[in-house]
Amino acid sequence: MSTEDIFEVEIKDVYNYRLSYGGQSAYFHGLQAGKMVGSKCTGCGFVWVPLRPVCSHCYETAEEYPLSGKGEILTSILLPQIPEHLRHLNAPVATALVLPEGADTCIKAFVVAHNNVTLGKGTRVKAKYLPKINSIADFYFVPEESGD
Ligand SMILES: [Zn+2]
Repeated sequence: MSTEDIFEVEIKDVYNYRLSYGGQSAYFHGLQAGKMVGSKCTGCGFVWVPLRPVCSHCYETAEEYPLSGKGEILTSILLPQIPEHLRHLNAPVATALVLPEGADTCIKAFVVAHNNVTLGKGTRVKAKYLPKINSIADFYFVPEESGD
């Protein structure tokens, strides 16, 4: 059989389903309410962001732990293209590793750089939340000094 003999058709499949964030729901409820919520291990005290219901270090339960939503850039790089869900902000966007205040983990997040603020290591940032939360990427940070 040659490739010309293979019969092919175009098919479009659309699946609608409801995705559950399960034990991480408190993190997403927090984002929806404009708050950053991590979890603190009841065994070793490690603070996870994003929230983990079970500690990956000692496997004890980790409980919801509210955070300030502020943090510090560990490293960042400006993106050549703005992610579609942040284009309405009309500002340069970097991807960064941010150490949230009070957390023992860092999180990869977008940082919006209004007013050409430098986004170097140590830059203090604060979280901003999109009106509709669907994913972990539906918030971003801005430098505290930007006044946003
Ligand atoms: Zn632990």
